Amino acid sequence: MASIIIDQVSKIYDGGVHAVKGVDIEIGDGEFIVLVGPSGCGKSTLLRMVAGLESISKGTVSIGDRVVNEIEPADRDIAMVFQNYALYPHMSVFDNLAYGLRNRKTPKAEIEARVAEAARMLEIEPYLQRKPKALSGGQRQRVAMGRAIVRKPAVFLFDEPLSNLDAKLRVTMRGEIRKLQRRLSTTAIYVTHDQLEAMTLADRLVVLNGGAIEQIGTPLEVYHRP
Ligand code: ADP
Ligand code: ADP
Repeated sequence: MASIIIDQVSKIYDGGVHAVKGVDIEIGDGEFIVLVGPSGCGKSTLLRMVAGLESISKGTVSIGDRVVNEIEPADRDIAMVFQNYALYPHMSVFDNLAYGLRNRKTPKAEIEARVAEAARMLEIEPYLQRKPKALSGGQRQRVAMGRAIVRKPAVFLFDEPLSNLDAKLRVTMRGEIRKLQRRLSTTAIYVTHDQLEAMTLADRLVVLNGGAIEQIGTPLEVYHRP
């Protein structure tokens, strides 16, 4: 677990687009934050800066007591789940889950135990030897979640992870993500443009507009203003 401090963060892309403008957010240990707002408002850019995947033009992002941009990518205690799953197509589900742990030289027995635990939680045990192409969209999304949880990261980052799924599966997976996050008490930032998803998942919502914070509060505070 870790708190996250986003302090006066701005992003100006080469070419001059001011995608994020002076954003301040303090995220508590184990809190689930949802970033919402119209397409192009800067959600993805902000998430990618927290992940350290995008350089920060101004301001700082700290996770625990460390400034993100001073941490080597391999040492960042963050796992990210994307919309397109980003699974390795040539590897089995087991190897996809084990990949990040093997990279970190985790002992074999521990890799097996952690993969088994994640597979049990996500109910993907029957598919461990399959390749991603032999899975349904929902099963692939579970594998992508599994890759995030086997590492037991301090922070989960989600970039529209459910938007490729059909409506029914979205509702199911939404519930499971919340359950999993509560159970693991992992601090989470979740990007979506789906209001219902935002309201169901969030401890607090951050509404972005034109790269700046328009509102921040619990779902009740944000959506039920008189
Ligand atoms: P959202 O995730 O809310 O849809 P983005 O963070 O993707 O918004 O984009 C915010 C703004 O930054 C948009 O105007 C977008 O066109 C611009 N943008 C995003 N990525 C880049 C990039 N790599 N280079 C230049 N401009 C970008
Ligand atoms: P770790 O679990 O150690 O964080 P990842 O599994 O996220 O490592 O992958 C390491 C790198 O490979 C990342 O930069 C990621 O974006 C990239 N990557 C992940 N999946 C794929 C894929 N299917 N094809 C190409 N690159 C990928």
